[in-house]
Amino acid sequence: MKTEPKPRSKKPTKEAVFRGIAVSPGIAIGPIHDTSEVATDVPRRVITPAEVEAEREKLNQAAATARKQVTKLKTRLNILPEEAQEELAPLLDAYILMLGNSRLLRGARKRIGDAGLGAETAVLDEAEEIAALILATKDDDKAGLLRRAGEVREIGRRLIRTLTATPFRSLKDVPQGAILIAEEITPADAALLDPARIAGVATEEGGADGHTAIMLRALGIPAVLGCHGLTEAASRGDQAVLDGGTGKVVLHPGEAALVAAREGLAGYARERTKLGKLRRLPAETTDGEVVELQANLEIPAELPLIAQAGAQGIGLLRSEFLFMNRPELPDEDAQFDAYRSIVEAMAGDAVTIRVLDWGGEKDMEALGQGVPAHTGPNPALGLRGIRLLLKRPELLEEQFAAILRVSARGPVRVMLPMITIPEEVAQAREIYERVARRLRRRGEALPEKLPPLGAMIETPGAALTADAIALEADFFAIGTNDLAMYTLAVDRAETDVAHLYDPLHPAVLRLVQFATEAALRMRMQVSVCGEMAGNPRLVPLLLGLGLRSLSMNASAIPRVKQAIRVLDIDDCARFARRVMEQSDPARIRELVAAFGNDKAKPIS
Ligand code: PEP
Ligand code: MG
Repeated sequence: MKTEPKPRSKKPTKEAVFRGIAVSPGIAIGPIHDTSEVATDVPRRVITPAEVEAEREKLNQAAATARKQVTKLKTRLNILPEEAQEELAPLLDAYILMLGNSRLLRGARKRIGDAGLGAETAVLDEAEEIAALILATKDDDKAGLLRRAGEVREIGRRLIRTLTATPFRSLKDVPQGAILIAEEITPADAALLDPARIAGVATEEGGADGHTAIMLRALGIPAVLGCHGLTEAASRGDQAVLDGGTGKVVLHPGEAALVAAREGLAGYARERTKLGKLRRLPAETTDGEVVELQANLEIPAELPLIAQAGAQGIGLLRSEFLFMNRPELPDEDAQFDAYRSIVEAMAGDAVTIRVLDWGGEKDMEALGQGVPAHTGPNPALGLRGIRLLLKRPELLEEQFAAILRVSARGPVRVMLPMITIPEEVAQAREIYERVARRLRRRGEALPEKLPPLGAMIETPGAALTADAIALEADFFAIGTNDLAMYTLAVDRAETDVAHLYDPLHPAVLRLVQFATEAALRMRMQVSVCGEMAGNPRLVPLLLGLGLRSLSMNASAIPRVKQAIRVLDIDDCARFARRVMEQSDPARIRELVAAFGNDKAKPIS
């Protein structure tokens, strides 16, 4: 299975346009690299007779999962051109049949018992045998035989991927300049992508403000998520054009599409040069109101980008990267080294380190030990963020210790994710102070005043009780990504409900306003660090609500600064009042768009 290229199925080779969610701007022109076609290089595994039943059950589960995935793909075919639907529907039907009570699955189940093979090894052997039998059939339609054998192997690969939960580590082998396509890319996979190598990314699944999208934006990789039908229609090596600004992928582009894409690429380069000129200019409104612009950091590879963007520190360091793609938890020293290099690189600008926000969609291998992989049927409402840390205080203690030690090397702030009640901040502070006392006893030189301990306001509960939480926390950072998700009951990473995910929904804006006003009344620092903060069109609204500190993906800073420099703060306040009177999200969007057209003048 590993050596033979996947035979091309009967896929259309005419220009075809696919639309998805535009999550990371930029244009890519290049060959497709479909990760699902990666050779499944799994080690052969043998099992004992006692393991046979469990192994068969694993196989059943994998088949059920794969069947669900393919069925979901099929339900989405209707958005493709009719011709493509006619080509692909029978192929997907064949896949669904093969994932039922097929010869492939029966044979694999038998091999598990008879030959004592691990499920993935049994699938590999059975798929190979069936493919070989098909190819040996006497038939003049050689292309047809090749295609059928390819389909069996494809299903084998799909099952093996599910069985071994293969992360996309083979992303290292992606050819230079390729457009990576996959059904789904997890945040942990995205952390492994090399932006110097990968021209663009398109996936079938994903939402605009999920962590995968955030990671792709942070890496500056043009990306389109939720692009239905693409993986089935494309084959490795096919030419494509991807526009991460409009959410369009053109497969087999014709001359006109290629010319437009090249022009778009040149336009982006010109804009980057222009925006670069803003680096040293202050983020100040025309009437002299200064706004603090900080960067969010997902992985240390972003540090040079942050420096280039002229960020005034890091407003959100998502520490999850330290826990991803590794079999064991990072200890205090490993965390200290990682934070130290970031704090030192920021050379005196503050770094706000958010303690581990595990849970929900951010599944991490290292935490698998001792922490359930998925906390119950509804992980986003489960043991996520501070809840997990208070339940496993040793995790929090280690992280606090590493951060406190680093605070002797430069200005640091500490932030708690997923707060819903003041008591969580109080409990975390108790641990924080206990850890500081222990470190001092150990002879560590900590600053006399401990770094501020702040709370993320990212649940409706926290926003509506922000005044009470403000009594316990030293600062607030409003996480509009989760705030929108929890307020609207819309999973931020789920394609099917992406149209309902709307940070401009008045319910979300009212919560942002409530939390901001609570902080301002108490003269407490408050920032927005969700994806909203990086959208230049939303700057007038956020400033009008009273916010003066925004933290965002580094590449957004120049555009946001450009927007700020043409604004008048009284205009913003009037505009925000007008927006807050509205109850219809569509009307709010109209107002925002209209204000943006007036004010966002190009830089000279
Ligand atoms: C948020 O929820 O808005 C936020 C900034 O946190 P994250 O995106 O890491 O969940
Ligand atoms: Mg969040």
